[in-house]
Amino acid sequence: MHYFDQTASTLPYEAVLARYSELSRTVFANPSAIHRLGYQAEQVIQQALKELADLLGCQAREWIVTSGATESINLAVLGSMRAHPNLGRNIVTWACEHKATLEACEQLKREGYTVSLLRTTAEGGPDLEQLQELLRDKPALVTLSAVNNETGVVIDWKRIVQMRKTLSPRTLLHVDAVQAWNKLPFRLGGLAVDLASFSGHKIHAPKGIGLLYVRKGLILQPLQFGGGQQGGVRSGTENPVLLGCLAEAARIGASRLSESLTHVRSLNRKLRAGISALPFVTAINSPESASPYILNVSFPGVRPETLVHALAGEGIYVATHAACSGGASRSHVLDEMQILEEAKTSALRISLDPDHTEEEVDGLLEALARWVPTLYSAPDLTRGRVPETSPGFTIREEER
Ligand code: PLP
Repeated sequence: MHYFDQTASTLPYEAVLARYSELSRTVFANPSAIHRLGYQAEQVIQQALKELADLLGCQAREWIVTSGATESINLAVLGSMRAHPNLGRNIVTWACEHKATLEACEQLKREGYTVSLLRTTAEGGPDLEQLQELLRDKPALVTLSAVNNETGVVIDWKRIVQMRKTLSPRTLLHVDAVQAWNKLPFRLGGLAVDLASFSGHKIHAPKGIGLLYVRKGLILQPLQFGGGQQGGVRSGTENPVLLGCLAEAARIGASRLSESLTHVRSLNRKLRAGISALPFVTAINSPESASPYILNVSFPGVRPETLVHALAGEGIYVATHAACSGGASRSHVLDEMQILEEAKTSALRISLDPDHTEEEVDGLLEALARWVPTLYSAPDLTRGRVPETSPGFTIREEER
């Protein structure tokens, strides 16, 4: 199996699975219980929070543990705005953000807020000149990612923090750090944001666990109510098992961050060069400056869903676009970009991982070299006929 869809989700590290098994047996008690087993569960939580805080450069009490980044983002955006109506009713984001951000902003629109969307530059990033102008109007919140999950575009957060400081110090800053964590050298220490969202399953921890960093002193209005855990901001029994696993995955990833980055950069260069050298039209949609972990590329004339299934038939897994776009057939990110319509409708997102080898990248290039011309030159394919060159390849009903 050659899995190139790590941006969507990752396989947990072996050590994380071992920790899961160990903690599931040992810390099953409710961490709020006052007996010894409850205390032990609470200790695992506190230790994990401390470790995560040290790794990311904040304090343990600045974490809210969530079920994943979607929840973190919703709590950050809705919770901060509802708790601070005095900041005004203006939010700034970018149309290429993850749906969790865009939909949370939509909800605020229904509550009477206005949402300003930054333009997309020719390089595929949000227009920070426009952000500079908008900051003069003192918006309540700016919410943007650190790395775009479809193209890998890296957003210059140091610049955003600096602009906020000089133009509108009261504006809250939320960074969706999901695709930066343990991939690029991302740390909260020194960045001076107010809120930051993280997800476990993107960094080889299990699904169902995420983090929200909340700058000390910043009050959030809860989205859910109950037993008052986590300072009442996020009620619900905490899960020491998943949190212990998250800390383990974070530690492993951080310990090999720069070595991983060097390796992935080299794989990315190889993939870019290989794709550009293919003897048919291709377009690379991720700028050179993008995170090397994500490469968005188009094969005009080929339906990307068909190509994904063809490759999967050979055990090679790539994505068309974000898995969490609710099944939308077009990418809302590519739609915003200044690229040809053909490129927008024929894109693949290839994710790289430190565990990939050069041989795997060669295998992917070789499969693309075979499949793209086959699918391109098979006009019947749109009517659902299976090309003879594709053993075991069937077209699903919805693609006919
Ligand atoms: N933000 C970004 C940039 C993402 O890539 C994702 C996941 O695809 C999310 C948020 C949502 O994360 P989760 O799956 O943990 O809810």
